Amino acid sequence: MVDVDNALNIIYENTKEADLEKKDILSCLNKVLAENIYSQDNLPPFDKSAMDGYAIKSEYTRGCGTEKSVKLEIRGIIRAGYYCEDELEVGQAFKIMTGAPLPKGADAVIEIEKVKVEGNILIISEEVDKGNNVIKLGEEIKVGELALTKGSNIRPVEIGLLASLGYSSIKVYKSPTVALIITGDELVDIDSELEKGKIRNSNEYSLKALIKNSGAEALSLGVVSDDKDNLKEKVKYALENADIVITSGGASVGDYDFVDDVLKEIGADVKFTSVAIKPGKPITFATYKEKLFFALPGNPSSIITVFEGFVKPAIRKIMGKQEEDMEEFPVILAEDFEAKIGRRKYVYVEIKVDNGKYYAYKVGSQCSNHLMTMSRANGIVIIPEECGNVKVGDVLNGKFIFR
Ligand code: AMP
Ligand code: MG
Repeated sequence: MVDVDNALNIIYENTKEADLEKKDILSCLNKVLAENIYSQDNLPPFDKSAMDGYAIKSEYTRGCGTEKSVKLEIRGIIRAGYYCEDELEVGQAFKIMTGAPLPKGADAVIEIEKVKVEGNILIISEEVDKGNNVIKLGEEIKVGELALTKGSNIRPVEIGLLASLGYSSIKVYKSPTVALIITGDELVDIDSELEKGKIRNSNEYSLKALIKNSGAEALSLGVVSDDKDNLKEKVKYALENADIVITSGGASVGDYDFVDDVLKEIGADVKFTSVAIKPGKPITFATYKEKLFFALPGNPSSIITVFEGFVKPAIRKIMGKQEEDMEEFPVILAEDFEAKIGRRKYVYVEIKVDNGKYYAYKVGSQCSNHLMTMSRANGIVIIPEECGNVKVGDVLNGKFIFR
């Protein structure tokens, strides 16, 4: 049995960054940027109004207030999407809509709600500062400036930013294909009748979702019955057609757990077969040529824990990211939690913030079979190997999950 840190080091040592490819931006969600992105334009490309109002020269309003007003002639209206060639002259204003370019000679916009209008005359009774409600040319970013650095995660906001900068495609690291083999004679699909002794195959669904979330592509090879030859054929096919192979279940020491036997028979290089972690101890990691193989425990919540802990870091490294996406922070225990010395325990909890501090509350049974418990949790606290039971008020590291 290896400890969690060692297991991760072994996985990282055997994982290489993928080649690069150019992809359209919408296909890059959750991928990692493989180039620096510089702005091709000034954003915004012109001085523009931030409000529906009137474009004026601010100096006309000097000294205005309850006692003093200024009257300006309204010259016309400037809509978003249209450029006004006319220059604002002394004593004039233009009505202007949000997003429209300021006319030459104007340096401020006063909101519609703050003025009076009588026919063609605008009446302003307050001082307006220069630059009021004006978004200056290049205020967001200027031509040639660095917009995004290599290694950034592509989230919805980056997709919008790239679009506004004129990039329809970008260089990213290729996503690995993750083949999924589900074992277990007890499994039926969601819509099937639950006959005696059967349960629904939830792992296939949670794993596909986890793979998608991490930015990789899933290749689902369905359920194999607990039969060594069937499993061997599926594993060989998976290793030929994917970069990473995951099996669900069949990895422990039961009479019908064949994954470790199959790995030996095909000549895979088995690096470890269990990790000092709870939940999720029976996890095998092996390599076969350049391919990675993870045999994960069948328990529905264990499999999520070990996927997040071991498979996702490998996927993210292949995709160009080494550090964890979710940072750990100190969490104060609001209740006692039990743990055995010797294994690192991940306790699913509700983390609440109070006065700038984070507190961890129980969300139910910690039985590794229960997705219900996990579903009520928004985070985990990590009880180190040497700790044993921990008490109210103890401070441990924790993190949010699936945000
Ligand atoms: P195993 O690792 O194969 O011994 O399975 C451990 C536990 O997880 C057993 O209670 C299984 O019935 C359950 N299990 C295994 N595979 C799945 C699956 N695909 N979906 C839901 N539960 C599963
Ligand atoms: Mg099984």
